[in-house]
Amino acid sequence: MAEIKINLTERKTCPYCGSGSRKVMFALERYSVCRCKSCKGVFSDPYLSENEAEKVFSDPNAVGAINPEVESYYDRKFVLANSGHTFNVFEWLLDFLEKNVSGRKLLDVGFGMGFFLEKSRRRGWECKGIDFSDEYCKYAREKLGLDVMKKRLSEFRGYAGEFDAIVLWDVIEHLDNPGESLARLNGMMKKSGMLAVATPNEKSLLAFLAQFMYKASFGLIKGPLSSVYVLEHPLFFDSNSLRKLLERSGFNIVLSKQDETDLERLNLGKTKKIIVKTIFFLSRLVKMSNRIIVIAQK
Ligand SMILES: [Zn+2]
Repeated sequence: MAEIKINLTERKTCPYCGSGSRKVMFALERYSVCRCKSCKGVFSDPYLSENEAEKVFSDPNAVGAINPEVESYYDRKFVLANSGHTFNVFEWLLDFLEKNVSGRKLLDVGFGMGFFLEKSRRRGWECKGIDFSDEYCKYAREKLGLDVMKKRLSEFRGYAGEFDAIVLWDVIEHLDNPGESLARLNGMMKKSGMLAVATPNEKSLLAFLAQFMYKASFGLIKGPLSSVYVLEHPLFFDSNSLRKLLERSGFNIVLSKQDETDLERLNLGKTKKIIVKTIFFLSRLVKMSNRIIVIAQK
């Protein structure tokens, strides 16, 4: 596989509140995971900027080069079955939105392979999507016949008061300036519109175990932490920090729940899969699953 060069950008200030004061939590190979001393937000420094992420996620080989286990998560050939974890979560969210908003105009930011858009359209929603990948846009437009635009969220303007629902699946953790982007999305929503945000949970049992191994080895065992605080995520959230960010951006929190990664979408070996499944089972018991979904209202 060709070597793919990924450039990281140094940070001067906290991406959430602008403070210059932070504490290094973990020093990994290429970057440190830091916590802002002022707002307690967690971020990496140096980090993968949106600009660089656009290059990486536009190239299917690049994603696999950073992290082979997640390559299939972005696989263009993955077909969403009419059952399974991802399918059920999509159904749950659409059921919730259909009960709680009156209109049916939806925006999917970073729609990726277009599964959610396609499903929403089948249920009668009028759907629009933006994504910074040429390839995803081409696929969504030509193969799925969806109304999509190649656009980065930071460049997406207009549409004042237009949408009843906006969804961000695995997007918020990639943003350079999350507060500004969310406030702009707030302006694009109808009154009482709903925003759904799904992202990895920084307060997960997986993260806790990885942190324990790092600390117990005096910082020598970095591998598990690098799989939790991955290079491709500049920002890390738990339900509290995500709540705070949404509230600062003009939203009221309606619901917050935990979720977990759909293991059918990862390239894990047999042994690793059993270990991860066991950890996920325990995570549910202690309410520390590795993903969170927060729904907020304008
Ligand atoms: Zn801060």
